[in-house]
Amino acid sequence: MSTEKDLRPFPNGGEWIGVDLDSTLAHYDGWVSVTHIGEPIPLMLERVKRWLRDGKQVAIVTARVSNPKRRGETLPAIQAWCLEHVGEVLPVTHAKDYDMIELWDDRAVQVIPNTGKRADGAEE
Ligand SMILES: [Mg+2]
Repeated sequence: MSTEKDLRPFPNGGEWIGVDLDSTLAHYDGWVSVTHIGEPIPLMLERVKRWLRDGKQVAIVTARVSNPKRRGETLPAIQAWCLEHVGEVLPVTHAKDYDMIELWDDRAVQVIPNTGKRADGAEE
């Protein structure tokens, strides 16, 4: 985890892919505790592992680390989960930067650039 002064997950630069944790990479059906993280979602986990094998940079983007006062509890739990399931500790952030080329997230609504229109074609 980067410091508050520099929230970039890859301070040395390079494009990276952001992956949300709860309901995207880890099963989530309701809050349990700060340190509880659900079982991995196989399709997403294998995608992340493939990206890493292909040499891509991947970071966890989660609101779990948005409160600096709780980060001493939340961050180690996320790092341990990553080590157990991904096989390595990924950088963790709650912030975008200019090198983030994709964000995989269950709450995001994709828009067609410069139009304001939903990319999925769904009604408003
Ligand atoms: Mg989520």
